[in-house]
Amino acid sequence: MDPAASSYLIVGSGVFGASTALHLARRFPGARITLVDRDHYDAPRRVAASWDWNKVVRADYSDITYARLALEAQGLWRADPLWQRFYHESGVVWISPGAFAQTVRDNFAALGATPDASACSVDEARGIYGGLFAGADYTAVREVHVNRSSGWAEAKEALQSTVAAAVALGVEYRVAQVAAVAFDRSEGARGRCCGVTTADGALLAADRVVLCSGAYTPKLLIDSDPAWSELHAGGRILAAGVTEATTPLDEDERAVLEGMPVGINENPVQRGCDVGCMPLPSLGAFKCWGQVFVRNTVTHPVTNEQLSAPPMQPDYKQWDVPAALQEDVGWALKSLFGDKFQGKKMENFRLCWEAVTPSDDFIVSPHPACDGLFIATCGSFHGFKFLPVLGKYVVQMLCDELAPDLQKQWAWDRELPSTEGNKKWPRKELGDFIAEDGRE
Ligand SMILES: Cc1cc2nc3c(=O)[nH]c(=O)nc-3n(C[C@H](O)[C@H](O)[C@H](O)COP(=O)(O)OP(=O)(O)OC[C@H]3O[C@@H](n4cnc5c(N)ncnc54)[C@H](O)[C@@H]3O)c2cc1C
Repeated sequence: MDPAASSYLIVGSGVFGASTALHLARRFPGARITLVDRDHYDAPRRVAASWDWNKVVRADYSDITYARLALEAQGLWRADPLWQRFYHESGVVWISPGAFAQTVRDNFAALGATPDASACSVDEARGIYGGLFAGADYTAVREVHVNRSSGWAEAKEALQSTVAAAVALGVEYRVAQVAAVAFDRSEGARGRCCGVTTADGALLAADRVVLCSGAYTPKLLIDSDPAWSELHAGGRILAAGVTEATTPLDEDERAVLEGMPVGINENPVQRGCDVGCMPLPSLGAFKCWGQVFVRNTVTHPVTNEQLSAPPMQPDYKQWDVPAALQEDVGWALKSLFGDKFQGKKMENFRLCWEAVTPSDDFIVSPHPACDGLFIATCGSFHGFKFLPVLGKYVVQMLCDELAPDLQKQWAWDRELPSTEGNKKWPRKELGDFIAEDGRE
């Protein structure tokens, strides 16, 4: 099928869907492109992981592929008028008891990149940025990674700007809850994907459907045909949640936001992956995230299959965060600043749902079981920064032009690694934390 002549339906307007819509519209001005989401892109609050106050934009990666792609994305964050105004190159300070600093520098060297990045000793780290990190938890840390060429972006604004640019190019934005992928079964038992059906029963027809539906993707695939196991995500994708919150600063404390870098600390390691904190000047606050990742296991009513899915309430119940997860996000302040901001109130607790894979890789792939169906999601808690370039690669996948290494790394069918060493893989159940609070 000629990609230029196709009609496309993209489910989900997070970074994967928005960027895909934009790049598709740029490449195929004649194509009919529809972007469907349960929320309007200007809605004050959304369930998308991509909807946020701000997000880290960095090329500091242990994985060289993502380092390369992030450098490419960062070039557009800096220079493209669509994103430039939302990008703040504040720097990143990354405290890791592992070899992160060295690996990242090796990657930059291998890629010929020359960011303003260096490693410093713990003593030096205590003094940088006016002593902001003097009280951080440096347990077992040998060197601290500092990259003054990294930063953060105003997330929801950058996302809105991307969708608005796609709409200006002719993309139709539809607000609807997608209930299922639809199949044309006139020529075979399983059939070809021919669009989606919405919760109110409408069929939105398209030649090609791209699922950019984030944490909801496994549920959507099972609901689409409960008996068709090859269609389902199985162990490939898991819905996972992590807590974020904001910390309002007093008038006299706000000076810290000026020139403050993003801080990330992998300590205390026994809690999980890493905590982080970054400036949120628009609210005169910090934004922080926690270390504990949760799943929400439910039993599918038709197949009795167990899967993790965001809570079924329209807003994923994301603003109702159990006490232990609120406490977890509080560790960000302690672990990065010691006692400096001790006792500060946190608010706007949000349990943010994301699609993760066992290897932390995205899935950008045709669905091998179903013609006309494509998957582009699974940010695995690091996808936002790629907003400017994600759609370019999704369009390459749709046109069968994706480079072999990316095809392999992002394939639907790839060898699934053990999740044993993956600190982002959720092992705890949301329901257990809710029960601890004495609630149902
Ligand atoms: C707390 C937190 C902090 C993060 N911080 C960073 C960071 O600092 N830097 C970074 O690079 N990455 C970060 N990430 C990761 C990043 O946010 C995600 O990887 C990325 O946003 C995922 O994008 P997506 O398009 O796949 O999914 P989403 O943004 O979740 O979008 C999916 C969309 O699909 C829609 N949808 C789903 N199902 C349906 C349906 N049935 N019908 C209609 N619409 C549907 C949803 O409404 C949603 O809008 C963070 C993630 C979290 C949770």
